Amino acid sequence: MAKGNLFVVTAPSGAGKTTLVAALLAADANVQLSISYTTRQPRAGEVNGKDYHFVERAEFERMINAGELLEHAEVYGNYYGTSQVWINEVIQNGRDILLEIDWQGAQQVRRLFPEAIGLFVLPPSLETLESRLRNRGKDSEEVIAKRMAVAREECSHVDEFDYVIVNEHIDDAVRDIVAVVRAQRLTLAGQSLRHTALISSLKG
Ligand code: 5GP
Repeated sequence: MAKGNLFVVTAPSGAGKTTLVAALLAADANVQLSISYTTRQPRAGEVNGKDYHFVERAEFERMINAGELLEHAEVYGNYYGTSQVWINEVIQNGRDILLEIDWQGAQQVRRLFPEAIGLFVLPPSLETLESRLRNRGKDSEEVIAKRMAVAREECSHVDEFDYVIVNEHIDDAVRDIVAVVRAQRLTLAGQSLRHTALISSLKG
């Protein structure tokens, strides 16, 4: 059986990554989102086990030491990480996995899974990014300034990714991400495993 693909989606905060990923998950039932672990506090409306697994710092450090995380990074003073066990299970079952992680995590995943497919989501401009961060109304001015600096740093890693999606109009960006995921399933390597009998019978 063909193993699933591992997609890594990275973007500066405010690029619209969460909306884009939610639309992809709604459009494509074969993609499973990895729920990360984090030590940051839940924002209003966030649900434990759905948006993140929210854990204490001591528990996160225990997970690092026990080797339970595929990758982890410290972003804005909080830990974020991806569960190793869950990924292995899902991918062996032929389902595609999507990780929504930062550039540091993406680098670690690429080292462990060189076949991972990296997608970077860009805002159409720096001004749009800032106004999107402001309009969320969830963070203080100080946090927004910090996030803008981190966003620019994040964007400096765009060259490390396979696909770039510019999220100016959300409908176009959704079509783009759905297209990338579908195209990736059609590579010769994957299709040869999925359709071995068909291909060999037609080749004669
Ligand atoms: P937020 O606090 O806004 O939800 O996320 C902050 C940043 O952490 C984002 O860039 C997000 O992609 C990143 N992030 C979320 N989960 C993970 C994870 O499991 N690993 C890594 N490396 N980064 C993550």
